[in-house]
Amino acid sequence: MQWETVIGLEIHAQLATRSKIFSGASTAFGAEPNTQACNVDLGLPGVLPVLNREAVRMAVRFGVAIEAELGRRSVFARKNYFYPDLPKGYQISQFELPVVGRGQVEILQDDGTAKTIGVTRAHLEEDAGKSLHEDFHGLTGIDLNRAGTPLLEIVSEPDMRSAREAVAYARKIHQVVRYLGICDGNMQEGSFRMDANVSVRPYGDELGTRAELKNLNSFRFLEKAINFEVERQIDRLESGAEVVQETRLYDADKDETRSMRSKEEANDYRYFPDPDLLPVELDDSFIASAVKDMPELPDAKRQRFGQEYGLTAYDAQLLTGSEALADYFESAAREAGDPKLAANWTNGAVSAALNKGGLDITSSPVTASMLGVMLKRIVDGTISGKIAKQVFEGMWSGDGTADEVIEAKGLKQITDGGAIEKIVADVIAANPRQVENYLAAEAAKQQKMLGFFVGQVMKQSRGKANPRQVNELLTKKLRG
Ligand code: ADP
Ligand code: MG
Repeated sequence: MQWETVIGLEIHAQLATRSKIFSGASTAFGAEPNTQACNVDLGLPGVLPVLNREAVRMAVRFGVAIEAELGRRSVFARKNYFYPDLPKGYQISQFELPVVGRGQVEILQDDGTAKTIGVTRAHLEEDAGKSLHEDFHGLTGIDLNRAGTPLLEIVSEPDMRSAREAVAYARKIHQVVRYLGICDGNMQEGSFRMDANVSVRPYGDELGTRAELKNLNSFRFLEKAINFEVERQIDRLESGAEVVQETRLYDADKDETRSMRSKEEANDYRYFPDPDLLPVELDDSFIASAVKDMPELPDAKRQRFGQEYGLTAYDAQLLTGSEALADYFESAAREAGDPKLAANWTNGAVSAALNKGGLDITSSPVTASMLGVMLKRIVDGTISGKIAKQVFEGMWSGDGTADEVIEAKGLKQITDGGAIEKIVADVIAANPRQVENYLAAEAAKQQKMLGFFVGQVMKQSRGKANPRQVNELLTKKLRG
């Protein structure tokens, strides 16, 4: 039987507000446990939550970015459950009336065509605290710094048909929230967490029973967890067993998913509107002010890069991965006056060096302007593309600007015909046997044999001779 995979994602994006969603406590990451939890976050009796406007503003920006219907009237509800890191006994979330309704994003599939993925809704909610199991021999520590941190939960339609599509969708949402400046996207710190709902069905059939894979914190794990889960479900169905609806956890060390709780053990959350919070009414002026300074979004930027700079879809896609990278490329391109060259270097040498050093583009030791000036030296013939690699390495390790490195290491291309002629003459004199063979060969072969002489000349000039000139001079002299 041919099985079709069906995936829907729930993504929790932590909103980049300075204070919490219902209190004035700081949301800064990494503070000493329980130093950023105020009475509201602790859920002490008699306290009242006050909604953080900025969190609503961020949710609205997201809604507009994914072309969603905004919930002009949204309602906070209590989601009741017991857990040690939730002192109130309920989480404030949105249930029937979310702030962001139905929207959509586009992903690029492997064959380069676009596919639209529906977003069912996005709602505001508060995060819970954290249970700490290490360092407390046989006990559990509770850190409530994270309690009350604003989250935007983004729920997709079950529109994805493979782990790769799910990753493309998750990357797209990640890209959008970062462009909007509403989430830092830091997965190690838990600012962007993904749950994957996975089921399989015979092609064209109704939806199968799904399992929910909780708390995946990297795109690689998302892909691996889904692929494992799909295989597991197919194996079960093909051996006559059923898939049970349950929550499962992915174990990266063993590369497998394991049951955490089944549907029967699932909580009944007894949602009801929170009597401490008024419904949120979005009026036109609030929406207008929220979207006033919307940035150019990734899709628009990608298309513009293709049209304006003549880049391939692939290059444009890579370069618009983050706003910072796109800005870097654009200023280097402007400085160099050659966008394609700037694209090749940004996606090539720069990205490779950043990866190797575990660095982000914003902390690149070679700034966009430094790269731009170096590229200008290629364009104006001061250095060859090959020598530029040495110049780049020099700049990367702190030897100075392109011009300083070229000067200090004497890397200027030799374009002086006389100097090259001398090296050519030396090479011909030093290799009489090769010259004899060359002259005896037929024209088609000669072209190939020329490579040996070019190589010798380049070697003697330490890569600095202009390759085009070397070729011309050699051909002339050898035939000469
Ligand atoms: P819940 O209330 O349990 O969270 P929802 O109906 O809100 O369930 O769905 C949660 C997520 O699961 C959504 O992203 C949705 O697209 C996805 N989903 C629902 N049914 C399926 C299914 N059969 N297979 C895969 N994903 C599904
Ligand atoms: Mg859910």
